[in-house]
Amino acid sequence: MERSTIVRVHEGLHARPATRFVKLAKAFESDVELVKDGKAVSAKSSVKLMLLAVKENQEVTVRANGADAIEAIEALIGYLENPKAGLDDDEAHAPANDAGKEAAPAFQSAPAVSAEASSGLRGVAASEGVAIGPAFAHFPPDIAGQGRMLRADEIAGEIDRFRAAVAAVQTRMDRALAQDSLSAGDRGIVAALRDIAADDSLTGEAEKAINGGNDAVSATITAASTIAADFSAVDDHYLNARADDVHAVGRQICLVLLGQDDVSLENIPQGAILIADDIGAWDLARAPLKRIGGVVCGHGGATSHIAIIARSHGIPAVLGLGDRINALRTAQEVALDGNTGQVIIDPDAATRADFAGRVEAAATERAGLAAFKTVTPKLADGKVIEVAANIGSLEEIEAAQEAGAMGVGLFRTELLFMRHMHLPSEDMQAETYAALAKAFAPYPVIVRTLDIGGDKPIAGIEFPEEENPFLGWRGIRMCLDRPDIFKRQLRALLRAAVHGNIKVMLPMVSDLGEVRQTRVLVDECAIELKAEGVPHATFDLGVMIETPAAVLIAPALAKEVAFFSIGTNDLTQYIMAADRLNPTVAKLNDVTNPAVMSAIELTARAGVAAGIMVGMCGEAAGRPDLIPAFLEMGLTELSMSPASIQRAKKTIMAMAAGE
Ligand code: PEP
Ligand code: MG
Repeated sequence: MERSTIVRVHEGLHARPATRFVKLAKAFESDVELVKDGKAVSAKSSVKLMLLAVKENQEVTVRANGADAIEAIEALIGYLENPKAGLDDDEAHAPANDAGKEAAPAFQSAPAVSAEASSGLRGVAASEGVAIGPAFAHFPPDIAGQGRMLRADEIAGEIDRFRAAVAAVQTRMDRALAQDSLSAGDRGIVAALRDIAADDSLTGEAEKAINGGNDAVSATITAASTIAADFSAVDDHYLNARADDVHAVGRQICLVLLGQDDVSLENIPQGAILIADDIGAWDLARAPLKRIGGVVCGHGGATSHIAIIARSHGIPAVLGLGDRINALRTAQEVALDGNTGQVIIDPDAATRADFAGRVEAAATERAGLAAFKTVTPKLADGKVIEVAANIGSLEEIEAAQEAGAMGVGLFRTELLFMRHMHLPSEDMQAETYAALAKAFAPYPVIVRTLDIGGDKPIAGIEFPEEENPFLGWRGIRMCLDRPDIFKRQLRALLRAAVHGNIKVMLPMVSDLGEVRQTRVLVDECAIELKAEGVPHATFDLGVMIETPAAVLIAPALAKEVAFFSIGTNDLTQYIMAADRLNPTVAKLNDVTNPAVMSAIELTARAGVAAGIMVGMCGEAAGRPDLIPAFLEMGLTELSMSPASIQRAKKTIMAMAAGE
């Protein structure tokens, strides 16, 4: 169906209003096109939309096809007829001083050790285990043009070469999109890249440069830079990030022109050690993880996303090497110890034998621990201790189940939000949470509401520039300020609760009012769902204890919530006033410091007195040296990376047996 209108948007769909229009269009499932002068373009493609150059007072037609076509047309026509569309502050919900900057990384922690060892390099011990294997360096090279001007008689041939390269890239992307194995998140990313590759804006710009005498590689680099610069200049966080997509497409075209293959994680050999300066969280999540023997990175800390993914798949990792990662670029073989942070480049025969022995011993230990997979650990008094998994995506369910997880004690929802080009819809969230609930039923699945930001910006939410982001607008604070985003998540959780044992917990709570306000929103959502006739069920609401304020009001909080889950990663940094990102205060960022242990004990005491469950989902929950102390304090649930589960169960059983 379609409807025509006269565009009243002030100055037409130039950059900012166009970006708003695309965002709005992307909120609908239907295919939506904007038609001007007989030319139809996807309303979900920013490049195309901007190229359509729709001016104020011009006639356009919105065409939609799909389940929500009527709603899409209503909303988009309403937008086009609003003179102030795109100019009004749709970040009105965000706090003042909104400069659209990235959120503070929430998952990185300070490197634990950084002293150089004579026997190699030392970085952050981010995922336990030892590994030795061939180095797989993942440093995508910079591409340069020929740097000579073409003769007039070479130009036509160069244009043909360029067009063939573009066609090859498009075919490759179409083929990727046709694969059933592509996850929804990856599909969105590839589709966005294909959109750019198929867009005249990039190819037209490049051909102009070739006609001017530039070789195709130089022309592509120039065209990509020009268009990327346009995207970067747009005052929109979401579209700024598309500049990277333009560069990525330009890079693919250049590689075809040069007859080179891209450095891809897909080709990593069995058992290889992945060496990189940085790896995007989703890049790593979709890499063939089973083949990766170990990871060594310049970036990242013990609680970065790379570390979390590595730990959940049992891949030893040393991160945070900084520039020293360059020393590994040409390594043939690498040995690493994810327990100490040691990395050895091209080990000699004795070191190789030592590591091989340790790898074997670790395999033997793993085999011994496997017996604990199905164990339900109990204390001497018969009290069951739930040993659950921390995960951040459905892909990690298998690893958690294989480890013997008794449910999920922390489902980080950030990755769900980071993987997509727009905020995930209520339906897709409900499906994700329901899939989790079903996978672990009858065990509980504790879903943490959105705790932004991650080590990637989230499309669709703009963050203020803050002096102290860790003391700023994050977690429950942001959610309560953005009920549009928060309620969508709460509604999805209520819907998913029909399918299993869903519990919900709030991050970064520091005030009773935050719990009460959330309850009001949960009730509102339940009333709405009932009125709409949508099946839903109630869930237990708990809080993470990760601020000193939450510890100090724990007795009052315990009366209002169903459970506590202690987030030692943040609790440690806030109790010790030691930034989890700052290596110079890494020594203070220590969970075993008596101040932090007292905070944990105070929390446990308050929870036990109120008769609610007290659990822990910070990294400390998986430490065999601390588990007995936590259990003595009264904790009955420990949630950790799947790789730590069997050892934790063994530790609890040994404690119960008085060993
Ligand atoms: C924590 O702070 O301990 C926690 C589990 O949350 P995150 O590491 O995701 O901040
Ligand atoms: Mg936290």
